[in-house]
Amino acid sequence: MLDLRDICKRYVTQSFTQVALDSVSLSFRDNEFVAILGPSGSGKTTMLNVIGGLDHFDSGDLLIDGISTKDFSDRDWDAYRNNRIGFVFQSFHLMPRENALENVALPLMFKGVGKEEREQRAMEMLKLVGIDNRYKHKPKEMSGGQQQRVGIARAFVTDPSVVFADEPTGNLDSKTTFEVMELIQKLVYTKNQTLVMVTHDSNVAKYSDITVNICDGKITSKDYNTK
Ligand code: ADP
Ligand code: MG
Repeated sequence: MLDLRDICKRYVTQSFTQVALDSVSLSFRDNEFVAILGPSGSGKTTMLNVIGGLDHFDSGDLLIDGISTKDFSDRDWDAYRNNRIGFVFQSFHLMPRENALENVALPLMFKGVGKEEREQRAMEMLKLVGIDNRYKHKPKEMSGGQQQRVGIARAFVTDPSVVFADEPTGNLDSKTTFEVMELIQKLVYTKNQTLVMVTHDSNVAKYSDITVNICDGKITSKDYNTK
């Protein structure tokens, strides 16, 4: 579904140039659960932001369903972000004034789904992630694990073509990490969801089907995990 071809990305500051992605070529197929594993600073977040349309790359090409994005306009990228993808963040990025149900329903509003259907679908997702009894709670009234369940529900609610997760357990303790990864794995298989997750933690990467190693902005290996 996604094809990265020789993607390069540098950050240029006054004092230095940092190569974040160094000629990355990689593809993600439908229904794959892929973990990108690498140490801090290896280019993981840059890669997710580039393939999620949140940031631009300098050279190379990203193909979406075989179509080059070289000539994509801002509108094309907006449509891709709103209609095709979901994002799970390390620090949850929930709207602080909105309750759990409203947070999960928000991406459906951007898609133009009516209020009644939005709330019904958001509630179903909250049930799937096991926190429907807290639907009225605001983020600050929930634990980190509960907030990330809301974040996961929000990413999955639109049935996107692909979900991206950037260190989804990075702010969680080890017990909650285990619970959240079990949940992500269950959702991936029940919904046949394509998911690309980046992590520095090999214990977290193990939950995926495929582990891609990245170091200094370069892909060093791709392995199929045995379960
Ligand atoms: P990771 O997510 O694997 O920790 P990042 O993609 O965040 O890595 O960063 C890759 C490299 O690019 C690092 O060396 C980082 O310091 C650098 N970098 C990331 N964002 C910026 C930025 N906005 N300006 C300058 N350098 C950056
Ligand atoms: Mg990162």
